[in-house]
Amino acid sequence: MTRIVIVGGGPAGYEAALVAAQLDADVTVVEAEGAGGACVLSDCVPSKTFIASSDVVTGYRDTDRFGVHSGGLEAVTVDARAVNERVKNLAQAQSNDIHNKLLKAGVTFVAGTARLGADTLGHTHRVEITPASGDTPYSVDASTVLIATGATPRVLPSAVPDGERILDWRQLYDLPELPEHLIVIGSGVTGAEFASAYLAMGVRVTLVSSRDRVMPHEDADAAQAIERVFRSRGMTILNNARGNAVRRTADGVEVELSGGGTVTGSHALIAVGSVPNTEGLGLEEYGVAVAKGGYVTVDRVSRTNVPGIYAAGDCTGVLALASVAAMQGRIAMWHALGEAVQPLRLRTVAANAFTDPELATVGVSQNDVDAGRVPAREVMLTLAGNARAKMADLGDGFVKLFCRPASGQVVGGVVVSPKASELILPITLAVENNMTVDQLAHTITIYPSLSGSITEAARQLMLHEPE
Ligand SMILES: Cc1cc2nc3c(=O)[nH]c(=O)nc-3n(C[C@H](O)[C@H](O)[C@H](O)COP(=O)(O)OP(=O)(O)OC[C@H]3O[C@@H](n4cnc5c(N)ncnc54)[C@H](O)[C@@H]3O)c2cc1C
Repeated sequence: MTRIVIVGGGPAGYEAALVAAQLDADVTVVEAEGAGGACVLSDCVPSKTFIASSDVVTGYRDTDRFGVHSGGLEAVTVDARAVNERVKNLAQAQSNDIHNKLLKAGVTFVAGTARLGADTLGHTHRVEITPASGDTPYSVDASTVLIATGATPRVLPSAVPDGERILDWRQLYDLPELPEHLIVIGSGVTGAEFASAYLAMGVRVTLVSSRDRVMPHEDADAAQAIERVFRSRGMTILNNARGNAVRRTADGVEVELSGGGTVTGSHALIAVGSVPNTEGLGLEEYGVAVAKGGYVTVDRVSRTNVPGIYAAGDCTGVLALASVAAMQGRIAMWHALGEAVQPLRLRTVAANAFTDPELATVGVSQNDVDAGRVPAREVMLTLAGNARAKMADLGDGFVKLFCRPASGQVVGGVVVSPKASELILPITLAVENNMTVDQLAHTITIYPSLSGSITEAARQLMLHEPE
């Protein structure tokens, strides 16, 4: 029986373990925090659960316009303790579910930490395990090792989180009350999501963005549309302003900005990215190639340069998404266990910012097209003309579609709308299956529906034979 040790039990690690167990390997997962890893216990799952509460508040916005007198947002109160308790309970329950699933699949789950051992024994790798229980450390020899150790919030030396006023995103759920004035430093997807959620909950929010717009790596039209919504709802956005340092004051925080000047608030959230958890794993001593920034170098089947050692997920820096981490982990196991395997394809990965409205993207980007990397025709339809959007009073969103100039093959798209994460699927299917705009356009959608805007965009991209 092939023995496999997986270091890290997040989506990369636990999905890999399930695949390996299905293929009858002897699998051990060593995880420091709990099944599901940071994704389930402190990052993705908690943040989306928190956003589910902010969405409930959003439902009370402007109800009068629908002829419903709810008292409006002013009448809504948010019990931060209850919200945070729900977040933590749900995350723990999800972790327990994953733990049970692993055990049922026959995986050995060890609570503790692991690192590569000093010596190699031919084609076998030695992993040193330190159990969290305090039991004596021991070694396990395995033919395959998967490094799936994830990442940790980046800490700015001049703004070290203290868990009280200066916070990273993992500490937010311990706050006993909602912040009075939250300053979010970093306007990438994580910063924007929390800024959006706290704003919805009635918190005064200042978002400090080092670039000229929020979510600078996302589609510019989409990011600008969302920035407009944020501003219209009262968020202060400081563009081209880096948060250089954060200091505690008597009753809050003071953020020093790069261009000079300061901004004060009650709390600061530092959301300036993550660093891979690859230190202390013995990688370099073992000869495993680690790139700049500490990311483990892997190929498209998750192999490192050392035979038998694979890596997957955020520790590889390939694309920091749970969906991608899980696929990298599965691919590693299929490859290691001799199954037919398709190398990782990032072309069809859909991604979503869970702001309000949401921003979903798939395939080629506007940047690719504008830079001439991908020849494409495009159309952008605002939701303002969509009947369903009018009924729901959604004026802020749009659908954008990219296709090949001659064949009309759909190569990408962007959706800004509530639940864009769900609406992006038809475009993802089209990109994945090389469908053309004609095929999309001939699909009959529900009337009225937001998805109708996707087929309408496709219709506008159909080429007509000149008369
Ligand atoms: C706030 C936030 C929101 C996010 N939202 C989304 C989202 O909506 N959708 C999405 O797709 N992605 C989201 N992500 C990204 C997603 O969480 C990550 O891509 C995903 O967690 C990566 O999975 P992983 O298995 O690589 O690592 P992780 O989930 O980080 O798990 C790795 C685990 O390994 C453990 N570990 C580390 N070192 C050792 C060791 N030596 N021994 C034993 N265990 C060790 C760690 O404790 C950790 O629990 C979000 C990220 C953040 C920060």
